[in-house]
Amino acid sequence: MGAGHSLFHDVIGQQHATRLLAAAIDKGRTSHAYLFHGPDGSGRMEAALAFAAALACERHGCGECASCRKAGRGTHPDISVVAPVGAFITVDQVREINSSVYLRPSESRSRVFIIADAGAFNSESANAFLKTLEEPPEYAYFLLLAAGRDRVLPTILSRCQTVRFGPVPPADIERVLREEEGMSETMAQTFARISGGDLALARRLCGDEDLVGRRRTYIDMGRRLARGEGEARAMVDDLMEAAAAAGETAGAEGEAPPEGFEGKGGRQLKQDAHRRARAARTAEVETALDTLSAWFRDMLVVASGAPEAVINRDYELELEREAHESRADAYRQAVGAVNATRAKLGYNIDLELALMAMFHRLQEVL
Ligand SMILES: [Zn+2]
Repeated sequence: MGAGHSLFHDVIGQQHATRLLAAAIDKGRTSHAYLFHGPDGSGRMEAALAFAAALACERHGCGECASCRKAGRGTHPDISVVAPVGAFITVDQVREINSSVYLRPSESRSRVFIIADAGAFNSESANAFLKTLEEPPEYAYFLLLAAGRDRVLPTILSRCQTVRFGPVPPADIERVLREEEGMSETMAQTFARISGGDLALARRLCGDEDLVGRRRTYIDMGRRLARGEGEARAMVDDLMEAAAAAGETAGAEGEAPPEGFEGKGGRQLKQDAHRRARAARTAEVETALDTLSAWFRDMLVVASGAPEAVINRDYELELEREAHESRADAYRQAVGAVNATRAKLGYNIDLELALMAMFHRLQEVL
């Protein structure tokens, strides 16, 4: 085993990617531009930070030298992380990269730039970046991260070696939750399945008691609906209220612009706050619908005699009691109704109307 192997211990369940990168380090055959692409929570950033440390270290990622220690603390002068400002990576940010890339590394053998979201280049900043990306100095490396290859402009994509990251396997998430977060086996299995391969989400679920409580609320909605109880209007109101609360919390984060402040910076802050609030409202409704969908899916798998496939492992007893074989088709239609509404969430829809229609449909099929 070469030095590279222990390097990626923070990257869970990505053997394909980490083997490839470790081999490149071991053989001294690294490219100057990489695109790490894969879903959120798959460990793209953790892998990029570890790879950057290995590129900088004289011993290819020993984990012990001053360079490796600084990389581990996030204070390495030759490793920079560039994140979008607002929605985009700006031309100014690219100009900064273009000039600092020609400064020789100060404390190591490489200068590494990690672009946290390569999907955030606009055509102007991408154009400003292309020449540097294509012909960097021999000591410079670019590690670009994105949720998918299709998020990246073709001109950028074609200049990178791509490395694919997949969803983290549920068994790996379960192990991390048990060993690192101290979760019980049942809850670790539940969150591993709920998170759908997103390890970061699974960790957030563990740490967020409020979210755990809201999950119970949404599961209760599903249970009442399946019993023919619950009133659509009241459920929509509860959901809209939870979404509004999430939006308020997110919008209030960061610095609020002073009252009546009309400068460019103030407008930007206000726009950012609005964008965060809207994203948080949508995310809360997504959480609710994902929970409902998983619940009816669990009812379906239990009714179909496959209880081992249950997602909500902590509700196994309730599912056994409440799911009826003869109603499998009703549960299937309920899953369909929730998923159809979920698919529309990203678009410009009247949320309240859409939810109302969904709950009416659920009452109809159940
Ligand atoms: Zn080292």
